[in-house]
Amino acid sequence: MNGPRFETICVHHAEQRERNFGAAAPPLYQASTFTYPDCASFEVREAEDAPRFDYTRTGNPTTQLLEQKLAALEGGELARGFGSGMAAISAAILACVKAGDHIVCIDTVYGPTRTLLTSYLPRFGIETTFVAGTDPTHFADATRSNTRLYYAESPSSLVFAIQDLAAIAALARSRGVATICDNSYATAYFQRPLALGIDLVAHTATKYLGGHSDLVAGMVVGSRERMRPLIENEGKLLGGVLDPFAAWLMLRGLRTLAVRLDRHQSSARTIARLLGEHPRVARVFHPGLATHPGRAIAARQMTGTSGMLSFTLRDGSRETAHRLVDALRYFCIAVSWGGYESLAIPLQLRQPGAAEAEWGVRLSVGLEHVDDLIEDLSAGLARG
Ligand SMILES: *Cc1c(COP(=O)(O)O)cnc(C)c1O
Repeated sequence: MNGPRFETICVHHAEQRERNFGAAAPPLYQASTFTYPDCASFEVREAEDAPRFDYTRTGNPTTQLLEQKLAALEGGELARGFGSGMAAISAAILACVKAGDHIVCIDTVYGPTRTLLTSYLPRFGIETTFVAGTDPTHFADATRSNTRLYYAESPSSLVFAIQDLAAIAALARSRGVATICDNSYATAYFQRPLALGIDLVAHTATKYLGGHSDLVAGMVVGSRERMRPLIENEGKLLGGVLDPFAAWLMLRGLRTLAVRLDRHQSSARTIARLLGEHPRVARVFHPGLATHPGRAIAARQMTGTSGMLSFTLRDGSRETAHRLVDALRYFCIAVSWGGYESLAIPLQLRQPGAAEAEWGVRLSVGLEHVDDLIEDLSAGLARG
């Protein structure tokens, strides 16, 4: 690898410490607007290479530092911060389609992304076909003459289904179709979809990138050519801007991203393996397990598997899932994931291509001592 590695980019990339009085941590520019010394400089503010900041909806120094780091981490040329993961995903999708176009998307995609595709975009004459996506032929078979976008999320929500990103990207290129991958689960630390040929990477930064359950944000990363119009239109015009304070908190989160993910990964792997051997557990879904259907592709395109897993119980009732989650002490009951604290929720798990869902439990394994988490789950499974 040329240039600094992941952790070093997080710490040093694009920092201008001398400009900031030598401050070790970057300043928070919590300002909506930027002043000009005279009318002459005000007149040239719209210039393409204008060296100044103008207004925080269009750009902000704190947010820009974060965007520069994210672009470097994902191996892209430009990144844009958004006010939430859904703002980032909406922007990425809208940047790729127009009225009359067709999208192919995986069926285990994040719920609100699915709702955007099924309930909102049809209003603009944009249709979506959902496919299991575990084989690239699913995308090929669903492609129509007006297909303009393949949407992937690998590993996907709740069941962590894997798509072969390089194969999907190659297929898309040969047909003039754009590709997006939601990379929230793996982050650039474990997976770099742009290097596999994907056009745009979208993130909820609310999860691992922030990592402390104290901010809501999203990011889109890609080439200059893809990102320039996205920044102008879906970024500045639609205006779902990332607040500088959330950007500053995310810069803080990035400094520990690699060490956090290493720990999330090792704890989740231990827990997934133990759950897989537990007599009350029917199946465990975690892309690091040998039993995961997408294991071979995951091993090829990812360098790690973060801290998420789900499982079903032999007694697969809603009541049993509730009893178990209620019996846990350190796993708090909450949506979201990727924070320092462990979370558990009972929910219905639907496998790619399946018609029926089964009751199960999803865990976000946090940074507590893994032995405490194991004891908590063992006691819960003994009692619940
Ligand atoms: C939470 C989530 C999102 C949405 O992010 P927000 O920041 O809540 O808008 C998108 N994709 C995935 C996979 C998520 O889990």
